[in-house]
Amino acid sequence: VPDSADAVLDGLDPEQREVAETLQGPVCVLAGAGTGKTRAITHRIAYGVRRGDFQATTVLAVTFTNRAAGEMRGRLRELGAHGVQARTFHSAALRQLQFFWPKAVGGDLPRLVERKVQLVADAAARCHVRLDRGELRDVTGEIEWAKVTQTVPSDYAAAVAKAARTPPRDPAETAQIYGLYEQLKRERSVIDFEDVLLLTVGILQDRHDIADQVRAQYKHFVVDEYQDVSPLQQRLLELWLGDRENLCVVGDASQTIYSFTGATPDHLLNFRTRHPQAKIVKLVRDYRSTPQIVHLANGLLSHASGRAAEHRLELVSQREKGPEAVYAEYADEPAEADGAARRIRELTEAGTLAGNIAVLFRTNGQSELYEQALADAGIPYQLRGAERFFERREVLEAHAALRGAARFGGNDPLLDDTVDIPSQVRAVLSTKGWTSRPPAGSGATRDRWESLASLVRLAEDFAQAHPAATLGDLITELDERKATQHAPAVEGVTLASLHAAKGLEWDAVFLVGLAEGMMPITYAKTDEQLEEERRLLYVGVTRARVHLSLSWALARSPGGWSGRRPSRFLQGLRPGSGTTPTRPRAPGAAGATGGPGASTRTSPTEAAGGSRVRRGPARCRVCGRTLTDAGEMKLMRCEDCPSDMDEGVYERLRDW
Ligand code: ATP
Ligand code: MG
Repeated sequence: VPDSADAVLDGLDPEQREVAETLQGPVCVLAGAGTGKTRAITHRIAYGVRRGDFQATTVLAVTFTNRAAGEMRGRLRELGAHGVQARTFHSAALRQLQFFWPKAVGGDLPRLVERKVQLVADAAARCHVRLDRGELRDVTGEIEWAKVTQTVPSDYAAAVAKAARTPPRDPAETAQIYGLYEQLKRERSVIDFEDVLLLTVGILQDRHDIADQVRAQYKHFVVDEYQDVSPLQQRLLELWLGDRENLCVVGDASQTIYSFTGATPDHLLNFRTRHPQAKIVKLVRDYRSTPQIVHLANGLLSHASGRAAEHRLELVSQREKGPEAVYAEYADEPAEADGAARRIRELTEAGTLAGNIAVLFRTNGQSELYEQALADAGIPYQLRGAERFFERREVLEAHAALRGAARFGGNDPLLDDTVDIPSQVRAVLSTKGWTSRPPAGSGATRDRWESLASLVRLAEDFAQAHPAATLGDLITELDERKATQHAPAVEGVTLASLHAAKGLEWDAVFLVGLAEGMMPITYAKTDEQLEEERRLLYVGVTRARVHLSLSWALARSPGGWSGRRPSRFLQGLRPGSGTTPTRPRAPGAAGATGGPGASTRTSPTEAAGGSRVRRGPARCRVCGRTLTDAGEMKLMRCEDCPSDMDEGVYERLRDW
């Protein structure tokens, strides 16, 4: 912990210092990936709190994911600033709603709808429309779109026409189902994900007494990843602020990856229009990545177009040269996953911690192969990092069991108060079926095991730091960590979608599945959608500190059609791929360009005899439930989970 407020400013460059020292008034930081935007605002909060300019509990820091919120809280603690609220828009809004609901509406806040698609089906049935599964998902998607764009049922048809959207069904019919869906929610006293922001905005707009109370509580606002703020989130922010301007926003227009939900970098780029007194600070030094990675990121964006691209700042790496990026082409997806696992093994053997490695993909459905490959190679992994650790079911159960054991420990032969804490923890967990060896295979069982293994490691670290501590002391520590969402450090390789990787960084990053159809994803067709795909890849590339691997497979499965081509975005970047960025590589041209495991291409005839490898059970990419229904397996999503707008929606739902 820095010994003074001024010491909090150590380790910031002059521009970052300027951000941190501007404690009052509107501040806007426009800068590329890895330039220390998050660091600058975190230090700004800590500096304000340490100086006494900010009372910690009056600061509301908004981050994009719960994981980012947790990281910020951790950093703030290290800088000696406790009690700051760092949350996502949704979690901040939900907290406020829960608090104000009894006063604003009466009773308790309705619970969240669990079977949303069923509710849509019931609404359709009420207006005598029968929808099959695919149609249901389409309508659900339309309702979600309408809600995030604040379109009420009666305006839906006009809004669709204005947005030049091609609606999947007759807009009048969709609007009718949407209206009944809203009515059914009220009747059954449930709310959906979109309602959390809508209701908060509604209450703050209508109830001045409640808005005043919120404004009395929060006086300083900081928003990270401001380029992806949706119109509704922007509205909420304005309501929180009232006529005050103590707002500091940071963002990078080139990392806008949620525009499909109505998010727009305009609020970031036009910050001065709304706040004429704003101090605008630009950062260009990239502290995260090696010159090679920064060069690649700059190259990727040099072909970008659109509004975000006009405001691009060329990044300048501050790090020493590192290894060249590895481009690897594989015959099929299982081979690609095995290749990544092999490379990861080499890295861990050479000293890189598994927790400093990530495998990032475009859609969550791609994770399964990598789970399997890592499990086969005996490499620990985490599906979603340490996010919401203490709310995972297995951790809740283990926590309760440990609490029970601590209370009745005196009578338990397993817990004689001569055995060390980690052994006691292992003994208690073994009664829950936990073993010290990881289970074979991947999937939910393995995921649960990894959570409990983290808990055991936490107990080991705790016992080492506090040799005289008891199991009761460990429970106190767990309670404290749960209250502050202070999850144990990630120990395994992170498997995450590109959307979920925003704002994070690792020593080694594997960008996998970079074939046409996956990156850009097939349903990206318009120029805007394709630009967003490019930005998504930029987000991926800029997560890496030192090692970066970019790979793709020519076929989905062994022996399958192998006509896939590497992503058009790699054209002109990877050695030997020509210079025209948009022209796809001719089939059969140069294969892999370096990297172990590369160039394992098999000819279709050679592979024709091979059978399709089915690895592990198919799981819902939203909730992780094992899928058995053929229709669900095809969609990689269970019936109960929300419809498909974009992969990013899943991230938001899961993260929330
Ligand atoms: P992104 O756009 O991806 O969110 P960012 O601009 O928020 O990136 P940070 O995550 O704040 O960047 O910083 C990137 C990395 O560089 C971090 O590891 C951070 O600690 C480091 N860093 C930032 N500023 C400095 C500095 N002045 N000196 C040393 N390291 C720094
Ligand atoms: Mg950041």
